[in-house]
Amino acid sequence: MPKLISFDIDGTLEVGDPPGVITMDMVREVQEAGYLIGSCSDRTISTQQRLWEEHGITVEFTVLKHNLGDVAARFEAEEYLHIGDTDLDLQVSQAAGFRFIPVDDAPGLMWGINGEHRQ
Ligand SMILES: [Mg+2]
Repeated sequence: MPKLISFDIDGTLEVGDPPGVITMDMVREVQEAGYLIGSCSDRTISTQQRLWEEHGITVEFTVLKHNLGDVAARFEAEEYLHIGDTDLDLQVSQAAGFRFIPVDDAPGLMWGINGEHRQ
C-alpha cells in the first residue's frame, strides 16, 4: 500500500508565500518513489490546482485545510503524512489522523537531507 503526503503551500513549498524549504524537485522525487501526493492549504482549490499545473506535477488531491480528513477517507494508504509550518497544520493533522511533520524537520526525515537517513 502506498504512503500519502499532504503538503501545505505557504511557508512549506518553495513556491509558497512566504517560500518554504520544500522544493518542487523534492515533491517530484517522493511522487516518483510511489507516494500519493497533494496539497492541503488555505488557498482556493483552483489556485492550488493552477500552482501544480504550472510546475507540471499531477497531484491526487487538493483540499482546503479543514477538509484534510476527506483525503484519508478517499485514499487507502499505509501512512498519512502532512507537512506544514503552523499550529493549524498540527491541529488539522491530528483531527484527520495524519502524522504531522514540521516543515523544518521534513528534509531530514523524508529526503535524507542534512545527513539523516531516509525513512
Ligand atoms: Mg503554511
